[in-house]
Amino acid sequence: MTSVHLHFIDNRRVPSASGETLPVVDPSDGQVFAEIARGGAAEIDQAVAAARRAAEGPWGRMPGVERGRILARACALIQQHADELMQLESRDCGKPLTQARNDVTAVARYFEFYAGAADKVGGQVLPYLAGYTVLADREPHGVTGHIIPWNYPLQIFGRSVGAALAAGNACVVKPAEDACLSLLRLAELLAQAGLPAGALNIVTGLGTEAGSALSAHPGLDHISFTGSPPTGTRVAQAAAVHHVPVTLELGGKSPQVVFDDADLDAAVPVIVNAIVQNAGQTCSAGSRLLVQRGAYEPLLAKLSAAFSALRVGPAAADLACGPLIRASQLAHVRQMVHEARDAGLAVAAHGQIVTDAPHGGYYFAPTLFRDVPHGHRLAQEEVFGPVLAAMAFDDEDDAVRLANGTRFGLVAGVWTRDGSRALRLAKRLRCGQVFINNYGAAGGVELPFGGVRASGHGREKGLEGLISFTRVKTIAIKHD
Ligand code: NAD
Repeated sequence: MTSVHLHFIDNRRVPSASGETLPVVDPSDGQVFAEIARGGAAEIDQAVAAARRAAEGPWGRMPGVERGRILARACALIQQHADELMQLESRDCGKPLTQARNDVTAVARYFEFYAGAADKVGGQVLPYLAGYTVLADREPHGVTGHIIPWNYPLQIFGRSVGAALAAGNACVVKPAEDACLSLLRLAELLAQAGLPAGALNIVTGLGTEAGSALSAHPGLDHISFTGSPPTGTRVAQAAAVHHVPVTLELGGKSPQVVFDDADLDAAVPVIVNAIVQNAGQTCSAGSRLLVQRGAYEPLLAKLSAAFSALRVGPAAADLACGPLIRASQLAHVRQMVHEARDAGLAVAAHGQIVTDAPHGGYYFAPTLFRDVPHGHRLAQEEVFGPVLAAMAFDDEDDAVRLANGTRFGLVAGVWTRDGSRALRLAKRLRCGQVFINNYGAAGGVELPFGGVRASGHGREKGLEGLISFTRVKTIAIKHD
C-alpha cells in the first residue's frame, strides 16, 4: 500500500468527493511510490468558498505587519524542515539533492522577502482639483488562483503564493499532477505558522479537471498561471469569460549571446549550468547559444569538453543532471533530438548516463548541437530537456536579430567585456530579464521576472510581484 496525500482545504486534509486518486511516480526509477487525491470541480468549489470566507474574514482584515509575522514564522519553519522538504522535492521531481536543497533555500527566502514587504506597500495621495483629496489605495485582489507546474514547485509557490499572501489575498493552488508533495507539506507548515483557515488551499489533480475548473471559476479575483504556452492560452480564455485578470509565466527559448571579447572560461560553467540545471526543464533555460564567429570554435571546444564530462543519474546520486519528469517528456525530448539528427544537425558533444542508473528512470544525456540553423525547430521551440543549440553570428545587429527571432522573450544572457555594447544589447533585446556576464543572478528573489509575447505577461518576484497581487482603488473626497 502506498500513502495517499489528500487536498489541503481550510487548514485540513480532505479527500476527493469521488475518493479517486492518482499515482505519484518517482522519475528516477519509474515506480509508483505514493498517491494523490484526484480533485475536480467539487473540490475547487470547496476551496474557493473557503478562500472567500478567509478573504472576507479575519485574514482579509489582518494588518500587513501581522501577515508578515506569519510569513516570517513560515520561513523559519521551512528552514527547520529543509531536509524533509528537500527529500520530498528531490524524489517527486527527480531533482538532484543539491538542486532540491537550492529550491528549499529559495522558497524560504521568498517567505523572508515577502514577510518583510507585507507592511510596506501603500497607496498614494494624488494631486487633483481644489477642494478634493484623492487617495489611490492598494487593496488585495481577494481570492487568487495559482496553477503551478512540476519543474520548480517550491520556488514557484514561493514567488506566487508568497507574494499573494503578503498582499492579503486568500489563495487556491492547483499544483501539477506530477509534483505536489512538497507543496502539501508546505501548506501544513504555513498553518503551523499561524495562517488562518482558508487563506491557503491546495487542490491536487489533473490539469484538465482541477486545473480547468479553477481557471473557469467565477469566484476568482485573479489567476496566476505558470506552465506551457498552449495551456496558458486555455487558462486565459477560461478566465476571460468571468473577466478575471491573468498573469501568465510561460516558456522560453532564451539566448546566451557571446561576443569575441568575452571571458570564455567564466562563461562556460554558467552556460552549461543554465541548460543542465533541472535536466533543462527550466522555463528560463539558456537553450540557445549565439556566438560571434571569432569565438565560436574556441567556445565550442571548451563546451564540448564540459558536456562530455557531465554525468546523469538518479536524484539521490546528486549528479549534475537527474532524470526528466515523466516518460512522455523523455519521449518528447528524444523525438526532437532524433528529428534534428535526421535533418543532418551535428552533435558536438554529449554527457553520459551512469551505468547503474535504475532501469525505468527517464534519463537523457545532455547534448550540444552545433551550427543549428536559426529557423530549425531546435532553435525555435522549447525542448524542455538538456539540449543546447549553438550557432554563429557576425556582428551586433546579427546577434540582436537572432536573439529576438523566436516567438518567445523571457531571459537573455550577454557575454562581453565592452560595457557600452552590453548596455546597447540589453536595451535592444526583447525579453523580461537580461543578464550581463552572468545568467540567472543566482535565483534573484528580489528581481522582477516575466516575459513578453509567447513567454507570457505580468511580472512576479521582487516588490513588483507583490504589487501585481494588489489593485488600486481611487477614493475621491470632496471638502472645503
Ligand atoms: P502545462 O502547461 O502542461 O502544466 C502546467 C500546469 O497547468 C499544471 O499544474 C497542469 O496540471 C495545469 N494544466 C494543464 N492543463 C490545464 C488546463 N487545461 N487548464 C488549467 N490547467 C491546466 O506545463 P508543464 O508541461 O507542466 O510545464 C512545462 C512548461 O511550463 C514549459 O513550457 C515551461 O517553459 C513552462 N514554465 C514556465 C515558467 C515561467 O515562469 N515562465 C516556469 C516553469 C515552467
